[in-house]
Amino acid sequence: MPLALGFRVLWALPVSVLALPLLPLALWRGHWRATGGALEITSPALSWFLRGVWFRWLAGGNGFAAATIGQVIIARDADCLTRCRAHELAHVRQCLRWGPLFPFAYIAAGLYAAWRARAFQAYYWDNAFEREARAAEEGSQCEARSLS
Ligand SMILES: [Zn+2]
Repeated sequence: MPLALGFRVLWALPVSVLALPLLPLALWRGHWRATGGALEITSPALSWFLRGVWFRWLAGGNGFAAATIGQVIIARDADCLTRCRAHELAHVRQCLRWGPLFPFAYIAAGLYAAWRARAFQAYYWDNAFEREARAAEEGSQCEARSLS
């Protein structure tokens, strides 16, 4: 691992460890794969978590197909992972850039977007980090809103 990349992994580590509380959800029938600078995990319990009211409240629709915490990508299943990989890897790059400041930058960008739009769901949809990740999707449709 090149030194610069090693440093960035350490820089992002305080955010990546925030995925640890999800570990119990990732064990039963979990599929784990380390690839492309991220740890990708799917499991039935993570699928349940991603459909949770907390994500439906945040973004509308029926929750998230996938989500990224530092360098950990969780997804409902392999199809969601494939469809969302470009989007989620954009978030991984954002975290490698911002390191431990990333959660604060993301929240600030979301609050600013919601304040500008005077609508809470703009927190997610108009968040600058989400817009950048959607731009990276290259035609693949990741957003939960597109799921039925
Ligand atoms: Zn996103």
